[in-house]
Amino acid sequence: MATIDSLKHALRQAATATTPSSTTHPLSEVEYSAGFHAFRHGFGEKTYEDFVVPQLSVSLAPLMNSRPRVSVLEIGTGPKSVLGELPESQRRKIGKYAAFEPRDSAASALEHWVSSSGEPDADSPFPCLDCPPKVTRLPFAADMSGECVKDKYDIVLFCHSMYGMKQRRGVVERALDMLVEQPLEGVVVVVHREGLHLDGLVCHRTMSFPTGSVSVPNDDGALDSFSRFLVGFSIADTSDDERVRREWRKLCRSLGHPGEHEGDYLMFRAPEVIITFTRHARALPALLSGVPRAQDSESRILKNAKARLVHPAAVVRPTDIKHIQHCVRWAISHKVGLTVVGGGHGGHCLVPNVVAVDMSRFDSVCIFHPSATDLGPLVVAGAGAKTGDIINAAMAEGLSVPLGSRPSVGAGLWLQGGIGHLARLHGLACDAVVGAVLVSVGSESGGAVWTVGHVPVQHRPAGAVRPDCEDDMLWALKGAGTNFGIVVSVVFKTYPAPTYRVRHCITPLGNGLHAKEKLVSFDKLVASTLPRNSSADAYLYWDAGQLRLGVSTYETGQESPGLGPSIEAILGPPNTESRAVNSVDVFETEMYMSGMHGGHGGGKTSSFKRCVFLNDIGMPQMTEALLRAMETRSRPSPLCYLHLLHGGGAVGDVAADASAFGCRTWDFACVVTGVWPREQDGTGIARAAEQWVYDVVNDLLPLSAGAYGADLGPDPRDAALASTAFGPNIPLLARLKTTHDPFNVMAYACPLPAEPMEPRLIILVTGESGAGKDHCANIWASVFNTHVLGPPPARVVSISDAIKRDYAAAVGADPDRLLRDRAYKEEHRPSLTAFFQEQLRQRPRLAEEQFLRVVYGAAGVNVLLITGMRDEAPVATFSHLVPDSKVIEVRVQAAQSVRQARRGIRTSNIEDSSAVAASPLPEFTFANDADGDEGAKGFANQRLLPLVSKEMNQLADMVRTIPDFPRQGINFRHVLGIAQQPGGLSLCVSLWAHHFAGDWGHVHSLVCCEAGGFLFASSLATHVNKPLALIRKSGKLPPPTVSVFKSQSHISSFSTSSSSSCLGSPLEEGIEMEKDATPDGASVVVVDDVLATGKTLCSVLRLLTKAGVDAANVSVMVLAEFPVHRGRQALLQQGFGNVRVQSLLVLGGA
Ligand SMILES: Cc1cc2nc3c(=O)[nH]c(=O)nc-3n(C[C@H](O)[C@H](O)[C@H](O)COP(=O)(O)OP(=O)(O)OC[C@H]3O[C@@H](n4cnc5c(N)ncnc54)[C@H](O)[C@@H]3O)c2cc1C
Repeated sequence: MATIDSLKHALRQAATATTPSSTTHPLSEVEYSAGFHAFRHGFGEKTYEDFVVPQLSVSLAPLMNSRPRVSVLEIGTGPKSVLGELPESQRRKIGKYAAFEPRDSAASALEHWVSSSGEPDADSPFPCLDCPPKVTRLPFAADMSGECVKDKYDIVLFCHSMYGMKQRRGVVERALDMLVEQPLEGVVVVVHREGLHLDGLVCHRTMSFPTGSVSVPNDDGALDSFSRFLVGFSIADTSDDERVRREWRKLCRSLGHPGEHEGDYLMFRAPEVIITFTRHARALPALLSGVPRAQDSESRILKNAKARLVHPAAVVRPTDIKHIQHCVRWAISHKVGLTVVGGGHGGHCLVPNVVAVDMSRFDSVCIFHPSATDLGPLVVAGAGAKTGDIINAAMAEGLSVPLGSRPSVGAGLWLQGGIGHLARLHGLACDAVVGAVLVSVGSESGGAVWTVGHVPVQHRPAGAVRPDCEDDMLWALKGAGTNFGIVVSVVFKTYPAPTYRVRHCITPLGNGLHAKEKLVSFDKLVASTLPRNSSADAYLYWDAGQLRLGVSTYETGQESPGLGPSIEAILGPPNTESRAVNSVDVFETEMYMSGMHGGHGGGKTSSFKRCVFLNDIGMPQMTEALLRAMETRSRPSPLCYLHLLHGGGAVGDVAADASAFGCRTWDFACVVTGVWPREQDGTGIARAAEQWVYDVVNDLLPLSAGAYGADLGPDPRDAALASTAFGPNIPLLARLKTTHDPFNVMAYACPLPAEPMEPRLIILVTGESGAGKDHCANIWASVFNTHVLGPPPARVVSISDAIKRDYAAAVGADPDRLLRDRAYKEEHRPSLTAFFQEQLRQRPRLAEEQFLRVVYGAAGVNVLLITGMRDEAPVATFSHLVPDSKVIEVRVQAAQSVRQARRGIRTSNIEDSSAVAASPLPEFTFANDADGDEGAKGFANQRLLPLVSKEMNQLADMVRTIPDFPRQGINFRHVLGIAQQPGGLSLCVSLWAHHFAGDWGHVHSLVCCEAGGFLFASSLATHVNKPLALIRKSGKLPPPTVSVFKSQSHISSFSTSSSSSCLGSPLEEGIEMEKDATPDGASVVVVDDVLATGKTLCSVLRLLTKAGVDAANVSVMVLAEFPVHRGRQALLQQGFGNVRVQSLLVLGGA
């Protein structure tokens, strides 16, 4: 299928060739309007629906969420703006709208369309404009000056309006000059067809849609207006015009791909991009002042065909680690991403308008013989070294590292997995990684050099530090290592260098049945029977019009397990004699390099690969899918093939969650390889081969054990594959990515799926055994499910089920009875508890792991009720793990006699391991003594449903997010700003009054400290008619007072330099209250705006204790809680676990 750009080029050429001397006219107003409408609402509609509108909305969301109103300038809008299709909440944010539209008719139509704004009419595109829209009837140009370009905007948008423009860089720069800078910076957004490069302007982000297409009705009229609109002119002379249009129709029909109903439509590829620029777009000189640029003449030859066609903003080539640090700091301070070039085999090492960091100068390889560890000899390899460099250096000392099969492949391989001929014997390349040096891209640490794991002293760069997250980082580097920083070097453990005995068998495959039988035999009788020191890779490929199965066997070590005869019986005599080769020569034995297609098309081919992991390739469904890929799916080139690399053995010895590489149980890595002649790089054949690869892997994916993360990147077609690439490790990886690459510097690496949606509300249902936790939880879930929530509903999950299953497996108990049969469970209770304690001793993070497993297992559920918790302070222990969810504890209580009766036990000395009577105060307590459902239902209606009410949502919507305030990297949630919004204060007050878990009648006064506390507490005090007790900084209240020292609050710490806290001397100040503000023994409610680290709250509680208020008589109500700072844990540690804390909102982030 031709691209729309190649069609445009061909149409222009055809016009010149057909009527060389004819005069052309720019399109008339009528022709333009008709063409615009057809393109926007007909030919390219799906591209708008599937990409432009949703991604534009995503791109603008952070900016729109950060301010109450935005101003927009749109360039070359046409008669209607795409912004009219954004969700209503975003359209309502637009307070000022201006456009440049040079065509009179389009400008008039636009004025008419946009002028309905301001009316209280649901159809108004921008219903909240603060001033009349302004449409300037001029073309926008790089050299514009004067009145019409003096205003500043939050957003400048070019949506498909750059096609006719000269000096595109200049035009974008002119737009950049029109962006607001204060208080928050604006953004220029360009929607264009793929291939827009802007001479060194650096983008903030770029998103692509390579599968975009345009479909045109295959009739003369539609093709005429389509072609005219595309070339942007018509022919003056009528008869010339007729001749040219005839040629154009022919061209469209020959280049277009017939749509589904052959002949009705013609389709053209229209790959799209959305690129955003900020004022930092011109920051390249600041980078180049500190790091050498790769000169074109010495530019390395990228191995990947796609990458070779890309125009990055620049390629820099660091020669010193300081250069890499400079790159990272530059990227963070200018809010741009980077790509890294290792061996250049991946398709994403270069991205248009993004700076690439070429690591080729870091290519040293050292062999190190440590004396003090049991790791044996190590290889320390720079990130610019290639597989061949490492193998050569290791082999010189009789050693080897399990890497891949091609010598030119680089760091992308060992950072993302690494499957080679030693995988069955020693595991993956990433399994051999024992340490690494990397430059961090974190918010505090950005640019710091980190050493993780085992790195010999002499290979630790000066100034390198071991980060707190060292274990997590080493874990993540082993499989997802391109996502967390720029890796400078890696340390591998080594193995004795093997000698390989290699043989190839090639057998033609007959009809479908014969082909299937051969595959089954290969799987069952050859591959599955091999010992670990042997492997059998298979190839399915066409040669000389015949489908063939090629098998290469690799044996290491002395013992020959009789490989030869079994293979020969099944596949026929070998095509090559068995020969012994060393670790270097083995590279040349690859069948696709030596045997197939004349040695990879004589070495003059390019390829595109994606890989999925398969088991049971002899299974009928599997053989069918493999053969379908080769026989019936239209392969765009006869060179395309499937390569099945043998797995199993040591690959599966590593637990799936022991490293980020989470797909461990597979027999074969099936590399679907699209191949085409190199001279056809960038053409339709290359694109078709790429699409064939995606079609085949998508066909295999449902049958697979996951996809291989190497090679996956920002192409949206990779997203589905990436979501299966990390097995059970996705939640942890997603969390680490958010924490350690908060600015998304490594934005174009293998995509880590977003953190699974956490439930909005998590209710931890605790209580003593027999109190009726499961019973109540089920009733509460059904109340949620029958009320306004809508799908997805509430769900109950028992956290102890997983451990019960593990226990059952370990001791041979019946897992089903353990879950369902109460008496059986009671019988096993003591040994089950002992088992749990032992597990906990062996895996200190077991409780956290189980909690997260349960939460993510219920991804998408709105309200999750968890029973079976054994932890004493579960909210303080777990809430920071799910910072976007509101986590509360509801304790179910029942009299001992009731509990005994429910458990069917008559004795009074029950040992209850889950007794929690002495644990900290939960948010709510429910007395479940009565039989029946009514009490529990009433409790849910009164206490639980309000937690997910409409009013709660309204309150949450009032919190604006301000990026990089008060310093870079902080997304400031403006909680106090709620008070500035119409109705904000009264909404808080009524929610607090209603949600309070205690009894207002028993409360003596409300306690608050400045500034947020004063504001909110005074309104609440008026509402509930209680006096206020004010807490101020020392010296502000008249005597007599009581006072305590208070360390710096979370918010104040934002603006304090880190050096002061490094000195270990947190700033302290005194706080005080009047001595008799609260009578001794009074019950009080502390009201504050934010609970973060809990430092302020702990100080307030200490002050109250000093003033004679018992902590047991204190309740706390805050407007917003930030669980990541673990404020509840701080309260617990300081002895205030018995203080009930209620938060209206829970906010993720800092
Ligand atoms: C001919 C060929 C043979 C292959 N054979 C095998 C094989 O036998 N076994 C196997 O497992 N895979 C194999 N692969 C797949 C290969 O592992 C991936 O393509 C891998 O990503 C290539 O890494 P690279 O460094 O060469 O490529 P690059 O494109 O340079 O890098 C790939 C990715 O890694 C990132 N990256 C590179 N260096 C760093 C760094 N220092 N810090 C952070 N990120 C970095 C890049 O930004 C990019 O996203 C093969 C691929 C090809 C084309």
